[in-house]
Amino acid sequence: MPAALPDFDAVILGAGAAGLFCAGVAGQRGLRVLVIDHAPKLAEKIRISGGGRCNFTNRDTTPAQFLSNNPHFCRSALARYTPADFIALVRSHGIGFHEKHKGQLFCDDSAEQIIQLLVAECDAGGVQRWQPCSLAAVRAVAGGFEVDTSAGPVRCAQLVVASGGLSIPKIGATDIGHRLARQFGHAVVPTRPALVPLTFDASIWAPFVPLAGASLPVQLATGSGQAAGRFDEDLLFTHRGLSGPGVLQISSYWQPGEPLRLNLLPGGDIADQLRQAKAGSRRQLGNVLAGLLPQRLADAWLARLGLDASRPLPEVRDKDLQRLGDSLARWDITPNGTEGWRKAEVTAGGVDTRELDSRNMASQRQSGLFFIGEVVDVTGWLGGYNFQWAWASAAACAQALQAAETIG
Ligand SMILES: Cc1cc2nc3c(=O)[nH]c(=O)nc-3n(C[C@H](O)[C@H](O)[C@H](O)COP(=O)(O)OP(=O)(O)OC[C@H]3O[C@@H](n4cnc5c(N)ncnc54)[C@H](O)[C@@H]3O)c2cc1C
Repeated sequence: MPAALPDFDAVILGAGAAGLFCAGVAGQRGLRVLVIDHAPKLAEKIRISGGGRCNFTNRDTTPAQFLSNNPHFCRSALARYTPADFIALVRSHGIGFHEKHKGQLFCDDSAEQIIQLLVAECDAGGVQRWQPCSLAAVRAVAGGFEVDTSAGPVRCAQLVVASGGLSIPKIGATDIGHRLARQFGHAVVPTRPALVPLTFDASIWAPFVPLAGASLPVQLATGSGQAAGRFDEDLLFTHRGLSGPGVLQISSYWQPGEPLRLNLLPGGDIADQLRQAKAGSRRQLGNVLAGLLPQRLADAWLARLGLDASRPLPEVRDKDLQRLGDSLARWDITPNGTEGWRKAEVTAGGVDTRELDSRNMASQRQSGLFFIGEVVDVTGWLGGYNFQWAWASAAACAQALQAAETIG
């Protein structure tokens, strides 16, 4: 290797959440770190996250909120770098935040503040960043790697792959991390869009198209046994199907061909409540139901069952009320697909964790190689869990990286 070439203890591929965080921690430990990213802008996914306010962690993070073919893999890293650790860092940078829903923490002002935090941490560690800079090839050599980049070749003792998942290709997502994993003999768990709206055949969906925009709290379930998912969250009707937090959550568990099981009125036995309401009420069925569901949905649902919305409640037969209650409590509907990578928030699947060391994210196939963040087969629920995985996996790796002269 010519002596004039730059030399780093670690090169990190990907200047997103995991890559920048890992770089800052490793740099502040005294390591010479270079981060490269092909996107012209820094950390675009952080910028657009949480509706522009970045849901940067979830106070209540446990391994139970993550999907993986190897569900215990995430435990070690999550236990050693916790939401409280990241919250302390956010506080130390003077960033205001608030809890929105179920432990989800958002910036008061802007996701840009989290990007600035990461940049400041990198600067404090003397991290070099080359961007836009693409990676052409990686070769394992004695004592490390040779990395060919669009800015020239670099040599490093360790290579950290933090290139993220496949969602939103237009802001820079690629499969380079999966390709590098395969190059070094790793298996990749098949990938699929997750936290994504679900779509339905036009013929099935036609009656629901006029409901676009309606939302309501529901219970959603899919799958069975270990692969089952169940959430109590809001559902949103769209022109092509279903979205909203509940549907995004259940989409991570949904398998093609499987139905979703929806309870549109999870509050109790609706048929029983309607039967009891018959006494002393002349209100029309449609009005009574519109007190429980969005008006447009109540109307569409009665039309779907062939029930007359204008009929006074006492005149509706008990068996029709039962049919109505049952249909609301158990609506089975089978999506024909998802809105795909364009709309997915994350990638399910990724680098198979069974060949990574859960304590530090190191490859067990190639010395000096690490995989962190979303490129790994660990996928969080909606609600700040994916960033917490990015921070925790990055911290675990950063603590394990070594100065080149101490290796071997
Ligand atoms: C719309 C949206 C909103 C989201 N909101 C939230 C939220 O509020 N809370 C939450 O926890 N999670 C959220 N997520 C998920 C979260 O953004 C990701 O899980 C997280 O960014 C993953 O971090 P990462 O560092 O692994 O990957 P990324 O942050 O995606 O970073 C990967 C980096 O690698 C670079 N890269 C990719 N390919 C190459 C290549 N060939 N050469 C060089 N560089 C490359 C990319 O340009 C990118 O900068 C959201 C995702 C989306 C899409």
